[in-house]
Parts: sequence; structure tokens; C-alpha cells
Amino acid sequence: MNVQTITVLGATGSIGMSTLDVIARHPQRFRVHALSANRQWERLFDQCKQFQPRYAVLLDEAAAEQLREKLKHNSIDTEVLQGLAALEHVASESGVDTVMAAIVGAAGLKPALAAACAGKRVLLANKEALVMSGQIFMQAVHDHGATLLPIDSEHNAIFQSLPRNGPHNGNGDLRAMGVRRILLTASGGPFRTIPIDALARVTPEQACAHPNWVMGRKISVDSATMMNKGLEVIEAHWLFNAPVDQIQVVIHPQSVIHSMVEYIDGSVIAQLGNPDMRTPIAYALGFPERIESGVSALDLFQVARLDFEAPDARRFPCIALAYAALRAGGTAPAVLNAANEIAVAAFLDAQLPFQAIASVIEHTLAAIPLGAVETLAQVLAADALARHIAHEQVARSQAIC
Ligand code: NAD
Ligand code: MG
Repeated sequence: MNVQTITVLGATGSIGMSTLDVIARHPQRFRVHALSANRQWERLFDQCKQFQPRYAVLLDEAAAEQLREKLKHNSIDTEVLQGLAALEHVASESGVDTVMAAIVGAAGLKPALAAACAGKRVLLANKEALVMSGQIFMQAVHDHGATLLPIDSEHNAIFQSLPRNGPHNGNGDLRAMGVRRILLTASGGPFRTIPIDALARVTPEQACAHPNWVMGRKISVDSATMMNKGLEVIEAHWLFNAPVDQIQVVIHPQSVIHSMVEYIDGSVIAQLGNPDMRTPIAYALGFPERIESGVSALDLFQVARLDFEAPDARRFPCIALAYAALRAGGTAPAVLNAANEIAVAAFLDAQLPFQAIASVIEHTLAAIPLGAVETLAQVLAADALARHIAHEQVARSQAIC
């Protein structure tokens, strides 16, 4: 068996830790080359101790210095690098086969893109990278012969439900595969059934208490507003070359079906499993083989029933905002994503009420003229402008409160 050499970007996060959990189950199959984090150097130290990577990368300089000291003190010869250029380096170096892109938000775009441009096998959790720069990202995958495997549970499920030998990586023609629609399932998050009036008073802790999944704080809030599903509609569009009208969101509160593909003959193929990200991670790590993930078997008698409902547009306005941004094209999805990141951070900081997240995004989209996307610079400029306008919107809503 060939040993796969892996860089895990965002190793200290929810996806990063689940990835290392699966990797640890297969020491003969995987070798960790580099691990990265923003500033959580203590957790990164523990991971270095366990996996002995060649490099550990921290974005934060002070954290990098502390990790360096601690590794030296413990005679662990992992080299500590610091900064964005180092992230791009460990994502693209020769000798690295696979890159797990699990940084949260726009910060993950450049390293993930560097991996694609270096022709790596890219395991993409960082959906924001595709939302911002779908066309550029997919072009890079195509031009440099990279392999893109989706980690997001829905997209992983769709990937598993499409014909194995069908063309993927955005080059596929869904019609030629006989696909009628992609059915993207969503749990509906923690606020699916609370009275709409009560949404005005929900706290960050309530928003982060997802009923089925344990995730990072940003994606947990995205799940509560259902912007997560909006971002995933855009992600599915790019990953599977799916026209916007062929992607339908279906609320399925049990989170047992992770998504479905509907074919023209009336067949619907779904992927089911317990809600645990180690399943899609193991699928992508082992692809095309199946490997042990540590996830327990699905007990259908305990699940007992599967429910479905249409999303309520009044309760979840973010879904329509994402569809509109995808239809508008150009820089609109990058603006949507940036405004969402600012609004979610303000909500988590108790600076913005929950329902104002959607208004900040809507105002930011309306304030910025639509631009074309031909270069990464255009995407980054739209991202920067959107952050500026969204900050102003947050400040304005604070003044009103
Ligand atoms: P998290 O907040 O738990 O972890 C984020 C990781 O990124 C951490 O290692 C952190 O140190 C690092 N990081 C944060 N900001 C950074 C920056 N500016 N520069 C460099 N590194 C930085 O997030 P998560 O829940 O693991 O999510 C990671 C990505 O995976 C997100 O894009 C999310 O949408 C996607 N995703 C997560 C889940 C899940 O179950 N958690 C499911 C599907 C998709
Ligand atoms: Mg998902």
C-alpha cells in the first residue's frame, strides 16, 4: 500500500480533529506532513506530539514562538512556520499528496487554491473558498489536474450518489448522467420550530447548540440562520456543474439522509449514516476504497422515522439571499460570503441581534455593484469592500438598538 502524505489545514478545528481521528486509525496508510492552526498552539503541540509532522504552521506570530519553545523543550523536531505564505507552502509542496482544507471562512481560500494549483488531491471542507471563487477554483482544479473531493456531508453524499465513473470536478454533465435534481438536505438547525418572534432574543450559545452536529461556532450560526444551506447550494453548483434550478433544499430534521440525487427515471439515490463527519472524511481519505472511520453503525430501528419539510422562507431569509447571489453571479457570492462572516462574528460577539444577520447581508449586497470575476484579485477586492460595508451596517444597527 502506498503511504499518503497529508497536510491538514485547520488541524485544531472540528473537521481537523475528526480528520486526525480517522488518520490515527490507519498509521500504515497515512503520514502527516504538516498541521496548521490560527493561534491554538497548545492543541497543535499535542497533535505534533502524536503525529510528528515535518511542519507546524501558525498564523499568529506569538503563538508560533510559544509552540517553538515547547517543541524544543520536549525534543520534538517539528519545524514551526508562521504566516499565510507558510500555509500556502505546506499546501503545495512537492511530496505532499493530499491536503485537507479545513480552515474556516475566506482565510482558507488562498491555501486551498495553492493546493489545487499544485495538482494535489484536495479534500475540501472550506466551502467558503468555493462560494467566493467557484469559477477560478474549478478552473485551477481542471488546469492543474487536481482531484477535488468534497468533505461537506451533503456534497460527499451527492458525490457518493452520482455514477462512480461519471465525470466529476465540475466537468460533468448532470443531464448526461440522467440526473433531474440534487436534493440538498438540511436539519433546519436549532431554531426550526421556535416561535418566529423569539428569534429576536436568541443568544450565541443557543445558536451554537446544534441538535445533531458538533461543529465550529461560525458554521453553527450559519446552520441556525440556514445560510449554511445557502452556501452549500452555491458549493453544489460549482462542484457538480449543477444549474441553480436543479438544486432543491429539503429540511430533514433527523440528519440521517445526508443528501440525494434524483434521476429522470424517478429513482432517488441517497446516502445515509449517523451524523458524524468522520464518515465523509474517511470516504475522501480512502477514496476510491472504503476505510474504517470509527463511526458506529446506523440503527434504523432507533431512527424509526425520516421526516421532510420545505424550508420556511420567512424564518430563513438567508437561503433566498444565497440563491439570488448565485443567480446574479460575478462577485455577488463573494460579497454574500464576506457580509455573512462579518455579521456572524458580530452576532457571536453579542454586537448584533440574530435576525439582523440577514439584513446586514441584504444591505451589503444591495450597496455593492455587481462585478465580473476573472481574477482572484477581483474576488479579494469584492471581499474587502463587502467587509467594510458590512461593518458599517453592523455599526448602524447598533446605533438603532
Ligand atoms: P473550526 O472553527 O472548528 O476550526 C477552524 C480551523 O481553522 C481551526 O484550526 C483554526 O485554528 C483555523 N483558522 C481559523 N481562522 C484562521 C485563519 N484566519 N487563518 C488560518 N487558520 C485559521 O471550524 P470547523 O467547524 O472545523 O469548519 C472548518 C470548515 O469546514 C468551514 O469552512 C466549515 O464550513 C466546513 N465544514 C465544517 C463542518 C463541521 O462539521 N464542523 C461540516 C461541513 C463543513
Ligand atoms: Mg454541510
